[in-house]
Amino acid sequence: MSSVPVPPGPDSGEDTLRRFLLAGAPVRGESVSLDASWREVADRHAFPRSVRDRLGELCAAALLLSASLKFDGALILQIHGDGPVSLLVVECEADGTFRATAKLRDGAACPEDADLAALVNAHGRGRFVLTLDPRTDSPNRQPYQGIVPFEGRTVAEVLERYMERSEQVPTRLWLAADEARATGLLLQRLPSEGGHAWTPGPADRDSEAPKGAAPPPSALDADEEADEGWNRMQRLADTITRDELLTLPSETVLRRLFWQEPLRGLDLRRPRFACTCSREKVAAMLRMLGREEIESIVAEQGTVGVRCEFCNSPYEFDAIEGAELFLSESLAPGSQARH
Ligand SMILES: [Zn+2]
Repeated sequence: MSSVPVPPGPDSGEDTLRRFLLAGAPVRGESVSLDASWREVADRHAFPRSVRDRLGELCAAALLLSASLKFDGALILQIHGDGPVSLLVVECEADGTFRATAKLRDGAACPEDADLAALVNAHGRGRFVLTLDPRTDSPNRQPYQGIVPFEGRTVAEVLERYMERSEQVPTRLWLAADEARATGLLLQRLPSEGGHAWTPGPADRDSEAPKGAAPPPSALDADEEADEGWNRMQRLADTITRDELLTLPSETVLRRLFWQEPLRGLDLRRPRFACTCSREKVAAMLRMLGREEIESIVAEQGTVGVRCEFCNSPYEFDAIEGAELFLSESLAPGSQARH
């Protein structure tokens, strides 16, 4: 992977998250391409193809949403399923790192071409959960959580409905993933008034009407024009195919879709895979299981072994290390240490 911060040319084979404005309409956008970072996720597990691809789409969607929310913390997307898949989860940190995993029910069959609904909403009891976690212990900064019933067939549809209903932000997503790449495009309609007021730029006005011919637009005209601009950008983006998303550099995708539109790039980030697991966190989790439980596992298996659900890293505690987990507890005054 290149270490150049902003590539002027093609970005194929790199991990990019770019934000842009479509200046001819009240529309902002983002495109994401996860290559090496997605393979870090996909290669650590042996998920069936349909599960892997839906998880990739959810990763792309999470990165896109994390860039659109002004929030200094972690964005966590979870889909709790009642079908062959019981959980899909993606965690994006404020620094652009992310990790993801899926949990399958024992013996569950996941057809190769299963859409998201078939995997997680087989009985109509799937749930979508969006969490904004400030990642601080301060009591004043509680995590925000939005929980909605599962609606839609695809990852894009579930996210679009959530954004429309819970955030009141018209949002469209185009997502695709395979074994090598997870990628996506997001368009969001900017509010017509308030902090992000949108007015058509001069270039764009010229293209819509002959100079001097149109009277100053009334509020209604401006609304209609904004509607038309939002619809036009969606129609353009709707022409993208899954194949194009998976094979073309994201810059090329944007050029092809919006070649007639004034597109202003805002910034470019480099998403990375990183897992936040550590031996200390695993130790804390084992302590919560309790001394008795750990002692019985050690007696039976000789060691306590735990694998991180996200990155699949193994953590092992032998008999001595298992006993040491509870050492500070037995030394603490007033503790319930047994001998
Ligand atoms: Zn891990």
